[in-house]
Amino acid sequence: MKQMTLIFVFALSLMYPAHLGLAKEDNTASQKEKRKSLYLKTAAVSNIPWYYLAAIDQYERNIRSAQKELPDPNGLSGILIPDIKWFGLTNPNHKKTDAKLINLMDGFGQDGNGDGKADPDNPEDVLYSMAVYLNNYGPNRDNIKIALWKYYQSGKAVDIITQIAKVYQTFNTIQLSNHDFPIPLKYNFDYDSTWGARRGYGGLRIHEGTDIFADYGTPVKATSYGTIELIGWNRFGGWRVGIRDTQNNYHYFAHLKGYADGIKKGSVVKPGQVIGYVGSSGYGPEGTQGKFPPHLHYGMYRYNGKTDYSFDPYPYLRQWQQQAKQEK
Ligand SMILES: [Zn+2]
Repeated sequence: MKQMTLIFVFALSLMYPAHLGLAKEDNTASQKEKRKSLYLKTAAVSNIPWYYLAAIDQYERNIRSAQKELPDPNGLSGILIPDIKWFGLTNPNHKKTDAKLINLMDGFGQDGNGDGKADPDNPEDVLYSMAVYLNNYGPNRDNIKIALWKYYQSGKAVDIITQIAKVYQTFNTIQLSNHDFPIPLKYNFDYDSTWGARRGYGGLRIHEGTDIFADYGTPVKATSYGTIELIGWNRFGGWRVGIRDTQNNYHYFAHLKGYADGIKKGSVVKPGQVIGYVGSSGYGPEGTQGKFPPHLHYGMYRYNGKTDYSFDPYPYLRQWQQQAKQEK
């Protein structure tokens, strides 16, 4: 069963090549400023904090970029509301944007910009409709989580949106696309492209990452903004950390010697922040070390709304190393 899952995940990773991980929409700083203004404006007329609206918007943007069958997010808002929901299940007219009629038909659509229309192609209307929906449950975190559960019917969606919201709230911005290389450049390290190679330990597995060899105790840094989603021991990875960034990427750091102070589940991190130290932990019960040379196993996964699929981190690592070198 486990093997089947791995084969499935591997097949998925072939279907969704890494370049799809990069969003195709306008992600310039000025476009993000416009988005943030819209979140603030919507927050001001609802009771929903802007960072929740922003997190929902970004979550849907990520899913749309990762799923071929969904239209790419081109507009100011990435939220995609199905017609049947927007106009109302019993509404025979799924084209008429008359806000009063939609309201009468129990549709989701609301008029956010005061033009009398509830237009699913208008970002103000879309965000305002989402805010009105959330407001029905209440403005605090627990209320919002319940509303999100009812809307997405997925615990994973609720968790990811809540995590993105926490990152946006912490840094008070959505301009969080900076990255860093996981090993400080002044230390010795070496790595090659080994993603997809076969691994023997614990049955046949595909190597879902890049091994960066470095000395025992070398600091390991977060590569992106995000939250610590996972921390602890696993017999394959030893002492591990998993960080979910705001783009639905999950960054997996394994075989650590230990963790940096203050790193715990739910912590918000930024690129360059030390999260742990290179070790050789794993391949056995808790505490096993030294079964292989010390290295950082770095994996990248992307959530597409159904599953986290592995993709090759090597090109990203090379890019971040290059950027870190230039910034020195
Ligand atoms: Zn590895």
